[in-house]
Amino acid sequence: MRFTVAIDGPAAAGKGTISRAVADRFGFAHLDTGALYRAVGVKGGDPVDAARGLTPEDLARADLRTLEAGQAASRVAVIPEVRQALLDFQRGFARREGGAVLDGRDIGTVICPEAEVKLFVTASPEVRAHRRWLEVGGDERQVLAEVRERDARDMNRADAPLRPAADAMVLDTSEMTIEEAVAAAVAQIERLRG
Ligand code: C5P
Repeated sequence: MRFTVAIDGPAAAGKGTISRAVADRFGFAHLDTGALYRAVGVKGGDPVDAARGLTPEDLARADLRTLEAGQAASRVAVIPEVRQALLDFQRGFARREGGAVLDGRDIGTVICPEAEVKLFVTASPEVRAHRRWLEVGGDERQVLAEVRERDARDMNRADAPLRPAADAMVLDTSEMTIEEAVAAAVAQIERLRG
């Protein structure tokens, strides 16, 4: 059985939490594609070489979730050769036997346009910055500035910009609890799974 759930959206909208919950619920494998770009961003050296030679150790680094890694990721993510180097792995994962959930920015538009379920998870920049600040601490205004900066870079790049696929269900989680957001995602998957 092949069944792909594509979950896209901006930083800190709740994609990761929803993806893990959905994978758990349906027994699907989960790939956080942002981790691939974060690993390339923090590796240093030539980003195209880093993307081509990514190892499991690179993906296990403890510093991948920092704000700096997020910024580094979005800078290398504008490079078409970096995106190309990560494409086959993501496509293979999406169509693996047993079902898969991938979260990222371009899963429903580029990596797996044939995905059976496409969700675009979003929330206002202020709400997303507040959630990220609860995780990382520091100055909340600075976190908001970084969220806006990363949004702008992700939405305005030429290759695979962040945008909802035409047939994606948009889920705005600004006013939702995580339980409500997960329930909405599960309901949509059940509807489309038949
Ligand atoms: O989702 P996460 O915040 O970990 O993503 C980090 C950065 O990696 C994003 O801001 C984006 O620039 C890039 N990314 C991407 N395509 C994906 C996943 C992440 O360009 N599918």
